[in-house]
Amino acid sequence: MKNSLIENLVQQFSRLPSIGGKSAQRLAYHILEKNSELAESLASAIVDARRKIRKCGLCHNYSEADKCSLCLSPGRNPNLICVVERPSDIILIEKFGAFTGLYHVLGGALSPLDGVGPQDLNIDSLLKRLAGLESPEVILALNTSSDGEATGLYLIQKLKPMNVKVTQLARGIPLGSDLQYVDEHTMQRAMEYRIPL
Ligand SMILES: [Zn+2]
Repeated sequence: MKNSLIENLVQQFSRLPSIGGKSAQRLAYHILEKNSELAESLASAIVDARRKIRKCGLCHNYSEADKCSLCLSPGRNPNLICVVERPSDIILIEKFGAFTGLYHVLGGALSPLDGVGPQDLNIDSLLKRLAGLESPEVILALNTSSDGEATGLYLIQKLKPMNVKVTQLARGIPLGSDLQYVDEHTMQRAMEYRIPL
């Protein structure tokens, strides 16, 4: 039997992260109770963002143009590159405003169990980017999960022979934690007291 329209709406909401069945139902009913303007703006914002936002050709951050606003910003140091797993990690580091370099988004972490190998991440483009720089420094700002650690070790092996200075965020970031849950103060200290590798 085909789902009713309302069942379908609830089901679509429940596909989103951290939305359980009850929340999905609440959102669906909320949309029906409000005037149609909410539904239309929400739907078009989602479709517009998905259609028009792509990846920056240099750092793989989300961007509406070939290069993102960070990479185009003249005030930033292109020889200092902070390597993160996801574009959302950039927002977090930018929030405290003390980092003046650029970023490189890997698109995840190495995870043999999930079949994620080096070729699935933006590692080649990082190595190419670094090869074109003079005395670059890479700051590893990866999650402290086992996958994040393994990715860090892999990158160090690749970067050391290239004479790239590699540092990682100082501890203070709890082991096994996702960067998304680190507060700004901890992040600021972790960046200030980063450790040479
Ligand atoms: Zn960029």
